[in-house]
Amino acid sequence: MAPTAVPMEDREVQSVSSRFETAAPEAILRWAIEEYGSGLTMATAFGVEGCVLLAMLAGIPGGRDVRVFNLETGYQFAETLALRETIRERYGIEVEFVRARESTADMEARFGGPIHGTDPDECCRIRKVQPLRSALAGHPAWISAIRRDQTADRAQSPVIGWDSKFGLVKVSPLANWSRSDVWAYVHINEVPYNPLHDRGFPSIGCMPCTRRVSDTEDERSGRWASFAKLECGLHSRA
Ligand code: SF4
Repeated sequence: MAPTAVPMEDREVQSVSSRFETAAPEAILRWAIEEYGSGLTMATAFGVEGCVLLAMLAGIPGGRDVRVFNLETGYQFAETLALRETIRERYGIEVEFVRARESTADMEARFGGPIHGTDPDECCRIRKVQPLRSALAGHPAWISAIRRDQTADRAQSPVIGWDSKFGLVKVSPLANWSRSDVWAYVHINEVPYNPLHDRGFPSIGCMPCTRRVSDTEDERSGRWASFAKLECGLHSRA
């Protein structure tokens, strides 16, 4: 049997990814739209990076037709939820809310209370990872707004890569951008963003699991601050 150290899908996307390693995010998005058409989808938590990608999509032919969704855990900030309307008004992009099968009330009743403070991995699995798996089913590719410089795990992310966890291609147009690149784009293009970013929240997740950070702290240190947890499981390989 011929050695197949890397799955076929992976070898193909590795080759494409290397072509786009230094490309502008808009060029990567344009390629993804042409390559996958209506099969392309995007998940956004309405963080500043996601807002930048939505602004870029709005300026690319076919970009407004990409199915974009938010994992509405039931624990998000009101400011985050309000951005959905702002994005619709500004760019004409309708972001779909994808929810877990079980409401937060039913889940809390089942566990005898909220579990985000005791078992955040299980909470994220139920409210984020499972809904993401359902939302991605049938799609050949998804767009994420991760940057390599956010975490050690994300540092390994290709621009375009095979996402073996969810079984489709993952496109990360901002992989090579820094936080200052993102904010420069926001200011130049007057991209709407979550007002919590201006109140000490550089990274925004669910309300119970996000705290303010100081200027000297790492941008993701306010997420699950009482735990060693760094990811909700959407972008980690395990
Ligand atoms: S971020 Fe917190 S509240 Fe949100 S799903 Fe994960 S553990 Fe639950």
